[in-house]
Amino acid sequence: MDCMFCKIAKGEIPSTKVFENNKIIAFDDIHPKALVHILVVPKKHIESVKHLQESDKDLIGELFLAAQKIAKDKGLEGYKLVFNVGREGGQLVDHLHLHLLSGDFNG
Ligand code: AMP
Ligand code: ZN
Repeated sequence: MDCMFCKIAKGEIPSTKVFENNKIIAFDDIHPKALVHILVVPKKHIESVKHLQESDKDLIGELFLAAQKIAKDKGLEGYKLVFNVGREGGQLVDHLHLHLLSGDFNG
């Protein structure tokens, strides 16, 4: 499948990795919109929140816990967690990802 985040998850496209386990990978956003801007991504290809299924419930919980761990490890006091959904929701990459943003907001 020609999906950029699947390729990053497989190591076929380089990324600045900040977290990885068997189900999730997290890496720095290439065009940061805040001082810290990390994408927390399930390795499973799911297009968007719209495409979530009942069986993805645990995975979504794990995405939030991974974001929490990354924020804690980085010593972030506060942060924003965002899912963009569909073009009208600002989603450009059609592989589910949780934006973790902190500090110096300019977008
Ligand atoms: P969204 O608009 O919610 O689909 O977010 C996609 C995000 O992926 C944007 O913030 C992009 O800057 C980021 N992005 C696109 N390509 C890459 C890449 N190769 N490595 C890291 N981040 C990327
Ligand atoms: Zn994908």
